Amino acid sequence: MTRELICIVCPKGCSLKVELDGSEIKSVEGFTCPRGKQYAIDECTNPMRTVTSTVRAKCGKPIPVKTARSIPKTMMFDCMKQINSCVVSLPVHVGDVVIHDLLGTGTDVVVTANVDE
Ligand code: SF4
Repeated sequence: MTRELICIVCPKGCSLKVELDGSEIKSVEGFTCPRGKQYAIDECTNPMRTVTSTVRAKCGKPIPVKTARSIPKTMMFDCMKQINSCVVSLPVHVGDVVIHDLLGTGTDVVVTANVDE
């Protein structure tokens, strides 16, 4: 089976072609740097995503957040439920951790903007 992907690691957006035999990767073509090859392998074996979202302050203000590192794509739905249920006290600052070890992924959820009361 052949999977065709667009590399999302950098803006160049190389077209990648991955040849698979079941779940085994036989070859990767189209990458122009090692990061692209690794992206193709990861995407076909254990796809990961960084999540950007918002949590709520107690006063109702939305607070922009993101996962500090990428999480397994298969856990996105459950992680979004956890993030959506989070309520924080103001003020918050860039880099503040609002959720530690999101659902055991080893990844924290951090604030991406300063928000005062
Ligand atoms: S293969 Fe390398 S150069 Fe091409 S999009 Fe991916 S990261 Fe960028």
